[in-house]
Amino acid sequence: MKILVINAGSSSLKYQLIDLEDAEHFSVLATGLVEKIGEPVGCITHKTFPGGVERKIEEQEPLPTHADGMKRVVALLTDEQDGVIRDVNEIAGVGHRVLNCGEEYSDTVEATAAVKDAIRRYFPLGPLHNPANLMGIEESEKVFPHARQVAVFDTAFHQTMPPKAFMYAVPRQWYTQYHLRKYGFHGTSHKFITGAAARYLGKPVDQTNIISIHLGNGCSMAAVRGGKCVDTTMGVTPLEGLMMGTRSGDIDPAAIEYIMDQTGMDIHQMLHALNKESGLKGICGVNDMREVVDKSAQGDELAELALQMFTYRVQKTIGAYMAAVPNLDALVFTAGIGQNSFPIRKRVCTGIEHLGVTLDEAKNLVRTDAPHEIQADGAPLKILVIPTNEELQIALETKAVIEGNQP
Ligand code: AMP
Repeated sequence: MKILVINAGSSSLKYQLIDLEDAEHFSVLATGLVEKIGEPVGCITHKTFPGGVERKIEEQEPLPTHADGMKRVVALLTDEQDGVIRDVNEIAGVGHRVLNCGEEYSDTVEATAAVKDAIRRYFPLGPLHNPANLMGIEESEKVFPHARQVAVFDTAFHQTMPPKAFMYAVPRQWYTQYHLRKYGFHGTSHKFITGAAARYLGKPVDQTNIISIHLGNGCSMAAVRGGKCVDTTMGVTPLEGLMMGTRSGDIDPAAIEYIMDQTGMDIHQMLHALNKESGLKGICGVNDMREVVDKSAQGDELAELALQMFTYRVQKTIGAYMAAVPNLDALVFTAGIGQNSFPIRKRVCTGIEHLGVTLDEAKNLVRTDAPHEIQADGAPLKILVIPTNEELQIALETKAVIEGNQP
């Protein structure tokens, strides 16, 4: 079944066309990114893989609206010579990544009028993403009129958290009236990792207990008990929790007033600073983990401090989530840093041996796209590295909705 996965941003469209049977039998027919929609010159990067070899097409042209971007994508997908499908009607479903739908939907659903209304109601809690996600659905309905449109929420996997984990200790009306609570994000990734870890461990998903550690540009962790999320680090927005590339993660909220008073910043400038100028970048000036690691290796003390702070928060959260997940099967590292950065995995796993975490240094250096384990022989706890694949997860869930196979 051919499924198109779309992640629509305010000025971008990321897409992937996947032909799939199940999580282990699929092929990616095309991937691409449309950027700078609405700017004088837009860019499209479109990749196909004829015979397993990557073929890249790059275009620059004005793309005033998302509709123009979407039409270009259709033209590239169906191009007579280089296209991967003959007709848009070969696409059975379009899976849309949607940031937040609060408590309204705890699973993937068909993007009906009621679902679109719910996405709209949650604009205030996802002011950058939800409007763009909705626009993606509406444009897709126009160019793929025969395909089923499906919404996959980044928050859905975390809806199984109990109130003791998702409530903030603030006046209760803030929750009952304004829906303020921890929602958590990266849910599609944590769900994919839970399924992949279960397959790797040879266990049913509902008996799988892991701590999923997603370390990329954004960073979050999920405590997964019996295949279900029981706690996660991100909050009502993705700003809470771990230290990230440019996000602060946890901070005493009273610090915000103090620094606003000292600097004269308004709340928008403050949130910009916490989202875009903090984290690794705030401490050592760069947010790409490769650069931070290199600078630290060259003796840069602030880069070293940033690494220690980044690592320590992950370690503390591992400890906390061990309290939340009995009979833990594994820690699982994923995303750009988690999958690729040997030094960060080593730092995270060093000094918490008393928690049963013991890394094998040689296994940690193995580079493979296959799920693999990196704990020392005889260590009480498995440490896994599993590449995440959010697009595949979205495609799988879209297919399940189309086939009526949802749990
Ligand atoms: P993601 O958001 O999952 O694409 O992850 C992006 C981040 O992964 C980048 O900011 C890099 O810091 C990090 N990253 C990617 N490759 C490596 C690598 N080989 N070593 C260290 N960090 C990496």
